[in-house]
Amino acid sequence: MRLSRYFLPVLKENPAEAQIVSHRYMLRAGMIKQQAAGIYSWLPLGFRVLRRIEEIVHQEQIRAGHIPLLMPTLQPADLWRESGRYDDYGQEMLRIKDRQDRDMLYGPTNEEMITDIFRSHVNSYKDLPLTLYHIQWKFRDEMRPRFGVMRGREFLMKDGYNFDVDRESALHAYNRHMVSYLRTYERMGLTAIPMRAASGPIGGDNTHEFLVLAQTGESEVFYDDRVTGLKLGSRDIDYDDRDQVAKVCEEFTTLYARTDETHDEAVFNQVPEAHRKVGRGIEVGQIFYFGTKYSQAMGAEVVTKEGTKVPVEMGSHGIGVSRLLGAIIEASHDDKGIIWPEGVTPFPVGIVNLKQGDGAADAACEGLYKALAAKGLDALYDDRDERAGAKFATMDLIGLPWRITVGPRGLANGVVELTSRRTGESEEVSPEAAVDRIAQIYAGR
Ligand code: ATP
Ligand code: MG
Repeated sequence: MRLSRYFLPVLKENPAEAQIVSHRYMLRAGMIKQQAAGIYSWLPLGFRVLRRIEEIVHQEQIRAGHIPLLMPTLQPADLWRESGRYDDYGQEMLRIKDRQDRDMLYGPTNEEMITDIFRSHVNSYKDLPLTLYHIQWKFRDEMRPRFGVMRGREFLMKDGYNFDVDRESALHAYNRHMVSYLRTYERMGLTAIPMRAASGPIGGDNTHEFLVLAQTGESEVFYDDRVTGLKLGSRDIDYDDRDQVAKVCEEFTTLYARTDETHDEAVFNQVPEAHRKVGRGIEVGQIFYFGTKYSQAMGAEVVTKEGTKVPVEMGSHGIGVSRLLGAIIEASHDDKGIIWPEGVTPFPVGIVNLKQGDGAADAACEGLYKALAAKGLDALYDDRDERAGAKFATMDLIGLPWRITVGPRGLANGVVELTSRRTGESEEVSPEAAVDRIAQIYAGR
């Protein structure tokens, strides 16, 4: 993308309404625009990151054997009357009437609708296990929408639902979600710690929240700090191997890590004092096992191998897709702007032309831009007629992990400068070597 033709409305001033750094940088970098309290337009740069995050979520869900579909944002109230949640959900639910005076709602979550789909088409253990998920906009009329996309009213969520014939299989589905989530967050450059949580309005016994540690997080968290060093890495996971998956979950949930809702001071005090930490965290996901709560209420039954009819065992599992942008920025920035991890960056690399209009510099930039494109890498080429300082400030603000700087002086020696946004370190390399390095960094992304 050539910056001269892009739509990147950066702000020079700090917006007064933004209280936390991620909100401030998302506004300043022209990623979002607020349209009403907690409701945002996603401008091109923000939209690219959002899409990138969605893509990672899809890839890891599909890898775990989960199947994507798409349910609507608007739902009939009658489904929610069946589960009893239409009355229970309270003011967070946006209720709407259509022209026929029918009660509708903008979905805050989808347990009822997915259970309805299931009961319409599945009635045998032979069709199980089954996990269906979608990435769809949700609406919750939050009392205090704030912090930009962190606590919106309209927000994008991945929500998945498992259907299993018995409790043991459903717990395997729970574990499978935990492991696939660990991998999802790691690919985004995040450390998200599974913490034992309380279940809230969705109900259920087994539940973990995934928290990214950050001063600005809304949850108070208590943990053994050795938990922050655990990494899934690139180990091979067979998602059908119950023992292997359960072992990974055990590895990640044995050390003390809880939110204030489930915190137990006596147990916490058994953690060696040097490792005992109290802090704050951002909830970026949650998994639940709730058994037959919805299947029983809504008549979603399956015939077992033995020929008996049982309500299907279920769980639901969510990732805060739009909140993740904020969480990633909270975890990765400096005083000049965002520092995107390579996994989610809107553009893999920026090209800064120090002297637009100089024949050699223009040609070298064009050459780099095209060579990167030939390798499938869409660079953001700052081809505007601007001072070098302004170009650097924009690149630093929008946080691309790598920058190639091209100027007549370097070119006279056959080199360009390759700079890491994270470390600030630069090296002089030939344009060909710069392209190869970038291609190597993003290979397999
Ligand atoms: P919270 O406690 O933050 O209100 P929740 O527990 O009600 O969230 P879930 O039902 O678990 O939310 O939804 C799954 C995920 O969706 C959450 O882990 C969170 O990352 C995200 N999420 C929930 N509410 C919002 C919101 N208002 N804005 C943005 N993301 C949200
Ligand atoms: Mg939650």
